[in-house]
Amino acid sequence: MSDSFLNDSIEASVSKSRILAVLEKVCDPEIPTLSILDLGILRDVVCHPKHLEVVITPTYCGCPAMKTIEFDVIRALDNAGYKEVKVTMQLAPPWTTDWISKRGRAMLLKEGIAPPVESKDSLGQGIECPRCTSHDVALISVFGSTACKSLYRCGSCFEPFDYFKCH
Ligand SMILES: [Zn+2]
Repeated sequence: MSDSFLNDSIEASVSKSRILAVLEKVCDPEIPTLSILDLGILRDVVCHPKHLEVVITPTYCGCPAMKTIEFDVIRALDNAGYKEVKVTMQLAPPWTTDWISKRGRAMLLKEGIAPPVESKDSLGQGIECPRCTSHDVALISVFGSTACKSLYRCGSCFEPFDYFKCH
């Protein structure tokens, strides 16, 4: 027996919001200001009678980071008093940059990382310079500081910036 986000008893939903408040502080190792909630990695929290199950979906490039996230999830919940925690990787449906929350996108911009644009972006169309919002940008390198990002340079302010690749 387990319950999902949708058919909670009040007691379960109270503890679930507590759990979410804990998980909100678990951040992506590559973008430390972005929590796993904002990034859309966290898919579900299931309260089993004897343990908690946290379901996460890895980003397409985040395999090494996922081990860190799994460890951070278990440690954060352990600190909050949840001792029996199991982290499950859910590979389908695959993670997409569409799952990044509005807040997450705003945080990426603040970090100087251009958030992914929804449309096909292989030609850099629609990408905006996070510093001056110019659309006059050019791809410098497909791989930026991490495999998730490409390096662009703005044609207006000439600053290079990371772009979070669309999936
Ligand atoms: Zn610029």
